Amino acid sequence: MSRVAVVTGGGSGMGLEICRQLAARGNKVAIFDLSEDNAAAAAADIAQSGAAALAVAVDVADRAAVDGGIAKVRAGFGPVEIMVTSAGLDAFSTFTDITAEQWERMLAVNLTGTFNCLQAAIPDMVAAGWGRIVTISSSSAQSGAKRMAHYVASKGGVLGLTKALALEYAPNGITVNTIPPGFIDTPMIRRAQDKGDVPGVDTIAKATPVRRAGTPADIAAACVFLCSEEAGYITGQAINVNGGWYL
Ligand code: NAP
Repeated sequence: MSRVAVVTGGGSGMGLEICRQLAARGNKVAIFDLSEDNAAAAAADIAQSGAAALAVAVDVADRAAVDGGIAKVRAGFGPVEIMVTSAGLDAFSTFTDITAEQWERMLAVNLTGTFNCLQAAIPDMVAAGWGRIVTISSSSAQSGAKRMAHYVASKGGVLGLTKALALEYAPNGITVNTIPPGFIDTPMIRRAQDKGDVPGVDTIAKATPVRRAGTPADIAAACVFLCSEEAGYITGQAINVNGGWYL
């Protein structure tokens, strides 16, 4: 069935692949991204395959911009039925070196950004009596991670928000789940590797039970299933896509 989907962070990495996979299944996809160029490139890429795509440049931390973006989606495609929140920021710093500004920006993008997008879109799903929400959290919120206190705290908030909304909206036909990815080979991880903040892909692969790093396609496969009609009895769950890391 063709649904109206919004994917935040859809201009890069796993968000981009989620957009492609949702479009390949006949959904109309709105790509929310900080980068206007990346959002436009993703929309053009999807449109080439014949699917409907809409690029929306938006900072998810900016509530007015998010509301404006959702209004564009309603005008172009209709009410929002699927929302995937993949927009995110990472950073590495010893705890005592994290500045108040860095802490606040991390929470503003990763946690408040998720809140902004979900609160703006959920009324459409309530009105329809159907909805699918998938948040992208992080395995680091389950395991902890050194030099990432602000990131881990923000993603722990996303996990909690997901579980709270799952219970609140279960009677409305809306499922709310989270995917906490392990190491996924995306531009975000490559940037962190270039700066020496995380080990290289080969080292990660050797330490991962399935002996490879994850790919955006691994995340997208789980995500499109959670967004499907068939996944209606799955809600409030963290679906771990992490190559078998024990958490
Ligand atoms: P990515 O390739 O950097 O994609 C993240 C996207 O989010 C980028 O397009 C980025 O835009 C966008 N974005 C960042 N801040 C934004 C904002 N304020 N408003 C709107 N868009 C914003 O990274 P990824 O690895 O695919 O990450 C996707 C999600 O997975 C993130 O939430 C990340 O924390 C999470 N995650 C990743 C891994 C991993 O191993 N890769 C593991 C666990 C969790 P710009 O490029 O313009 O900044």
